[in-house]
Amino acid sequence: MNDTTMLATRPKTGHAGDYDAVIVGAGISGMFMLYRLRELGLTAKVFETGTGVGGTWYWNRYPGARFDSESWTYGYSFSKELMQEWDWKEHFSPQPDTLEYLNYVADKFDLRRDIQFRSTVKSAHWDDAADLWTVTLDDGQQTKSRFLMTAIGILSAHTLPAIPGRDSFKGPAYHPARWPHTPVDFTGKRVGVIGTGATAIQAIPEIAKQAAHLTVFQRRPNWAAPLHNAKISKAEMDAIKSRYDEIYAHCAQTPSWFIHEADRRKAVDVSPEEREAFWEKLYAEPGFGIWMGNFRDILVDEKANALISDFIARKIRQRVKDPVIAEKLIPKDHGFGARRVPLESGYFETYNRDNVELVDVINDETIECITPNGVKTSAKEREFDILIYATGFDGVTGAFDRMDIRGKNGVRLREAWEQDGPRTYLGMLTEGFPNMLMVLGPHTARGNIPQAIEHTVQFQTGLLRHMLDHGLTHVETRPDKVDEWTQTVIKAAEPLLSSKVDSWQTGVNRNVEGRQVRRVLGYNGNGVHFRRTTDEVAKGGYREFVFR
Ligand code: NAP
Repeated sequence: MNDTTMLATRPKTGHAGDYDAVIVGAGISGMFMLYRLRELGLTAKVFETGTGVGGTWYWNRYPGARFDSESWTYGYSFSKELMQEWDWKEHFSPQPDTLEYLNYVADKFDLRRDIQFRSTVKSAHWDDAADLWTVTLDDGQQTKSRFLMTAIGILSAHTLPAIPGRDSFKGPAYHPARWPHTPVDFTGKRVGVIGTGATAIQAIPEIAKQAAHLTVFQRRPNWAAPLHNAKISKAEMDAIKSRYDEIYAHCAQTPSWFIHEADRRKAVDVSPEEREAFWEKLYAEPGFGIWMGNFRDILVDEKANALISDFIARKIRQRVKDPVIAEKLIPKDHGFGARRVPLESGYFETYNRDNVELVDVINDETIECITPNGVKTSAKEREFDILIYATGFDGVTGAFDRMDIRGKNGVRLREAWEQDGPRTYLGMLTEGFPNMLMVLGPHTARGNIPQAIEHTVQFQTGLLRHMLDHGLTHVETRPDKVDEWTQTVIKAAEPLLSSKVDSWQTGVNRNVEGRQVRRVLGYNGNGVHFRRTTDEVAKGGYREFVFR
């Protein structure tokens, strides 16, 4: 019997379950969690709906899908060998390359043998007497485990538009997060896209190049800025590899764990010339610098925000030939950066093409229904061969809501969070749900997602090591710590202009019942503070938790 089979038959946390831990999801979080649990000598089973690893990058195969984060800050950093082996081909990696990377990781660390694909977790119920979770899949298969690790992402519960007749369309209709595995051929086709979020902003320029005609139905426009992607040469990649320690150490010291951090100056304090020069520079640079590396007041001060919004609006007017269309593409209901800024590659120029039409479905027409042949608005019916619902996600809590998770005394997680929004400690544990660890749970730090994941998984597996070392099998949060963290999170969101705007980040999705009211769903404080807090908890012996 080899080490692996020994572990598989001998759980370490002294229970009568099948595994020490069940991990829900085989994306970036689930894969790393599995790797770490194995290191601890624990047995784990991953359940994954898809047929392969990769999570977000497995599902979102739409044309134009790629990182908005620098590729060389997005990979796992736990294995120096892996970092040296992998060559990123572009500064902002396209989805196929990223999926290839995640498959490479799965192969290198032999992860697939503990992942059960085509397996959707329907429910997870806590049994307090047995100290076990019972996890049930949609085909009825049941598994018992000591721990439940949710590795379900923040944008995995996709939502279709609540438009009458949606399912009556005769042609193919796709949501980008359920894109077919074989490329969709748009050649000679009339295509309709509903939605203009980050996903649509990536897909629209690519579809427009192929389709005979493309109609974009825009409800609210989003501010967007150029991505400036480029290939990475061999020499450049070698140079990046030689600087990995420095790059990741730098990211760990920035508020959102990107290479970018806010300029110390305030937009309102500098001269108009200095402001313009700085913004021209940022607009010409790759990545999120224009959002995260901008003057430090643009995301909190209305006046500073109005100045940067005016700058970006002028850019849109310069890039879009028809001034009427340009005005439709400029947001009027929120300022630049108050919603997650999509980075684009020729998005605005796409509206200069003869085969592209923009329909403003707030000010000019309203969508009445989907018909068998297309979309009927208050003005007319347009016929399409293909429809794309780029209508986003029930962010952060949506994927939790889709499972029937019940904690102590049969309390449902969905109901526990319904009234006042989620309540967690560090976004990782929630009251009344023992032994449930959330990787990207509500109220956790996010920013550069893989770095947030690595940090969280390290913290959580550190907690498990502590439990193993002390013969502990049951962990809960201390209620006072949940109160404290929930208040910290709410306070951190208060000064931000983004808190005053409807978006998936504030939990608003008009296509989902009960999701019309804003909630605080992420920790918007400084990532450095978050790291420090978690490090102190670990160093202090996890006194913020109650063990049994
Ligand atoms: P989204 O930003 O929520 O955009 C959804 C779009 O659909 C919005 O324009 C929305 O309009 C529209 N919409 C929804 N229901 C509609 C309806 N019934 N009728 C008409 N329009 C409707 O979703 P997303 O574009 O999928 O992006 C979500 C997040 O995913 C991003 O913010 C980002 O964090 C992430 N993402 C990342 C990348 C990347 O890293 N490169 C790429 C894509 C996405 P309203 O604004 O009026 O609601």
